[in-house]
Amino acid sequence: MTETRQLLIRGGRVFDHDGDVHQPPVADILIEADKIVAVGADLTQQAGPAAEIIDAAGRLVAPGLINAHYHSHDVLCRGLFEELPLEMWLLYTLPMGAHRSKEEVRARTLVGALESLHAGITTVQDMLGLAPFDEAYLDVVLAAYRDAGIRAVFAPMVSDIPAVSMIRYRDALPPEVQEMLGTKALAAEGQLDFLATQLRRHPAGERLHWAVAPFAPQRCTPQLLEGCATLAERHDLPVYTHVYETRGQAVIARQEFARHGGSLIAYLDSAGLLGPRLNIVHSVWIARAEMERMAAADAGIVLNHLSNFKLKSGVAPVLDMRDAGVRLGLGCDNCSGSDVQNMFQAMKMFCLIAAVSEPEPGQGLAHEVLRHATLGNARSAGLGGRLGAIRPGYKADIILIDLNDIGYLPFNSAARQLVYTETGRGVETVIVDGRTVIKDRRVTTIDETALRREVAGLMRHFIPDYEAVVKARQSALPHLLAAHRRAWQEALPLHRFLGRTRD
Ligand SMILES: [Zn+2]
Repeated sequence: MTETRQLLIRGGRVFDHDGDVHQPPVADILIEADKIVAVGADLTQQAGPAAEIIDAAGRLVAPGLINAHYHSHDVLCRGLFEELPLEMWLLYTLPMGAHRSKEEVRARTLVGALESLHAGITTVQDMLGLAPFDEAYLDVVLAAYRDAGIRAVFAPMVSDIPAVSMIRYRDALPPEVQEMLGTKALAAEGQLDFLATQLRRHPAGERLHWAVAPFAPQRCTPQLLEGCATLAERHDLPVYTHVYETRGQAVIARQEFARHGGSLIAYLDSAGLLGPRLNIVHSVWIARAEMERMAAADAGIVLNHLSNFKLKSGVAPVLDMRDAGVRLGLGCDNCSGSDVQNMFQAMKMFCLIAAVSEPEPGQGLAHEVLRHATLGNARSAGLGGRLGAIRPGYKADIILIDLNDIGYLPFNSAARQLVYTETGRGVETVIVDGRTVIKDRRVTTIDETALRREVAGLMRHFIPDYEAVVKARQSALPHLLAAHRRAWQEALPLHRFLGRTRD
C-alpha cells in the first residue's frame, strides 16, 4: 500500500475568515493528498516522517483566490486596446479569439493560467468561446489547464441567436457591419449534445469542474435556455451567463422583452434557470426589483468592475446589491478587456467603488471582499464547503505571501493589506489540490521560458492578423459609436448615481 502524500506548511500566519483577519495567528497546516486535514499549533508530531515541509515563517498563508469570470480565448489581445465601448471592442476581439491554430489555443490558455497562478489565483472559471465547436480544440484547452496545474471551472459558451443581437439598434447598422459582429448562429440541439458528450469524455474530478454557460439571455432561444437548465440539473452544475453588461442590453430588455416585463431575469426564470445554480455576470444595469428577485432565488451576481470601466459599460450598483442581499462574486473578465488576471485589483476596485458611491463612512469592506473572492466565488461554482478557506476537509488550494515584501512594512492588517496593498508581487508559493505549482515565485509545472519563445513565434502571425482585422473593420466604428451613444440617451426606468440605483 502506498502511503498518502503529506505536506506540512509550518509556522505561517494562517488567514481564517472567522478569526483575527488583521493579525492572523501562527499555525501549521497539514495536507494529505489534495485535502487539508488539520490546522493548528505545531502539527509536526501529527505529520509522518516522509511529510514534505514548507517553512512558512514570515509568510501569510491564505486561501487561493478564485476568479469567477474569465475568458481564455483572447489572452493574446492583452494590451492591444485603450479604453473603448464594448460594442467597438467586440468588433476586434471576436475574430481574434476564434478560428485560431491549436498551438495558439494551447499557448493562450497556458499564459492565462500562469498569469493567474503568479497572482495567487488557484481557480479560474473559464467561459470559453469555442469556435470552431470542435472537441479537438476543447481537448487542447483542458490539456493546457491540466499541465499548468490550475483548477478550472470550465464552461464553453453556447448561443443560438447571432452575436449582433448584443447590440441595441442593430437593425440600423449597415448589413456589412451586422455581418462583422455575427449574423449566423448554431442550432441549440447540436451544442447541448456536444456539451453532454464532453461531460462524458472529460468527467469532473481532481482540478476539473464543469459549468453551463448560455452566452447571454438575449443570445439564446427559450429552447436553448431550457436545455441548459436541464443539463445543469442533470449533472448538478452551476450556470454562468452575461446579463446587463451594457446600458444597451438593459434597453434591449426593457424594449424587446416586454412579454417578460422587460426583464432578462424574468426571461431566465421562465426558462427554469433562476435558482441557486444561476450566476449572472456583470449586472451593471440591473434594477433593484430584479436584485431582490435574484436574492429570493439564491441566485448570484459576479462583478467585473475592471472590464466594465475599460469597456465603458458603467458602474455596477454594488451597494444596492449588498442591501438586497444578493450573493456576490468577483471576476477579472477577458484579458483584452481588463488586461490582467489579478483578483487583488478586482477586490480593491470593489471596495473603492463602494466608497465613492457612499459619502458616509462604511463598515469596512476589505474582509467582506476577501470572502467574495474565495468563499463567494466557490459557492458560485457549486464548490461551497470545498474551496475558499483553510479548514480541515477543504481542498488544499493555498497561497503563501511573503510578509518581507515592502508592502507589509509595517504589517498592520492582513485583510486590508491583501486588498488595498497587495499587487500579486508578494505571492511566493501557490499550492493547488495539494501540489506546489509556484515555488519561490517560479512555476514548477510548465517551462515558462519555452512558453515565452513559443508566444513570441505565434505573435509574428497574430499581430498581422489583428492589424488586418482592424483595417477591414474600421468603417464600422462610427456606426457602433452611434449605437452606443443612442443607448446611453435612452430613458431607463431607473436613475443611477455612482453605483446606487434610484428607483
Ligand atoms: Zn464575459
